[in-house]
Amino acid sequence: MKDPLEQILEGLGSGVIAIDTSGRISLLNPAAKTILGLQEGTNFLGQPISELLFDQSDLTNAVVDKVTVKDQEKTIVRPGGTRLPLRFSTQCLYDKNGELSGAVESFEDISRLQELSRQASRVNTLTALGEMAATVAHEIRNPLGGIGGFAGLLERDLEVDDPRRRLVKKIMEGVASLNRMVTNLLNYTRPLQLNLRPVDFVEVVEDCIGFFEIDAGNRLEEIKLQRDFVAKPLPCRTDPEQIQQIMLNLLHNAVQAMPQGGSLQVGVSETDTSETETTLLESPCVTLTVSDSGMGMSDNVKSKLFMPFFTTKEDGNGLGLATAKKVIDAHGGDILVESAPNEGAAFTIFLPK
Ligand code: ADP
Repeated sequence: MKDPLEQILEGLGSGVIAIDTSGRISLLNPAAKTILGLQEGTNFLGQPISELLFDQSDLTNAVVDKVTVKDQEKTIVRPGGTRLPLRFSTQCLYDKNGELSGAVESFEDISRLQELSRQASRVNTLTALGEMAATVAHEIRNPLGGIGGFAGLLERDLEVDDPRRRLVKKIMEGVASLNRMVTNLLNYTRPLQLNLRPVDFVEVVEDCIGFFEIDAGNRLEEIKLQRDFVAKPLPCRTDPEQIQQIMLNLLHNAVQAMPQGGSLQVGVSETDTSETETTLLESPCVTLTVSDSGMGMSDNVKSKLFMPFFTTKEDGNGLGLATAKKVIDAHGGDILVESAPNEGAAFTIFLPK
């Protein structure tokens, strides 16, 4: 029989590591091994803590200077290179004589919590923004209709060769462009209706590449398109038309990001989400990746990508990725982007199977 304290430590979801005053590990529970990504079955007891790939400054501060912390956060890098946010506390340990005998650190993985709060704040911002934009769009529509109507009357009253006709035309063009924008906005804010049905995801993606090749025409001459697909079929339940619409937008964005040409990769796979940054999805997921070798983007652009009307293009409407996010959220999926300036961009869509 193990002693009760040992049983508690083994069953605990939080990681616990203790060291003695010489910095050697005196306790390391199973959750600590899992969270830190340490090899199962290896005995770390008696080893110097410095041998673990782990930010141990707080533990050593506790044994050296008796400085302890409570409920702090830090990010660690696991052996495979993945980063993991932790909440942790440290405490000094004393022996029966009141002498310092070591220190203990307890910690928990807060990646899921952080992801939830990131999503909640994004949803809040977008909801507020969407509501405001829809109200403004409604308010604009009526006067805009009036301006367009009166400009039409004015045009009718002017002689065919009157030079002022050119000015009236400009007004009408401006009204038409504003109308398009307002209509797009109202479409974006309208509740989304999904038509979910069982499909072969590989086929959905292949069909979309077919549409894209027709659309992109001779731009494809300077772009090397590579496919990296799992073997067919990859069954899942999705709304194929909406997913193809999103994918087309990703492909067009990729092409626009490579004005001098480059390589465009489309990947389809099945993913175990526990090994990815997206921690809110149940495994397994079907994954679609569109990556390009184009101009990439700054962190600032990356943080605004999914906001409606955010665009860096002169003729962009900034609704492509915002709509993509909305459709993917409605599927219970997620979209991630990896990019840096001049290093291309990779968009990954995760959809529950
Ligand atoms: P739009 O294409 O109309 O601008 P999107 O919502 O599709 O709207 O894209 C928003 C912005 O995201 C783009 O203006 C661009 O700055 C950035 N972006 C999207 N895809 C890429 C990409 N593959 N490479 C670099 N930047 C991109």
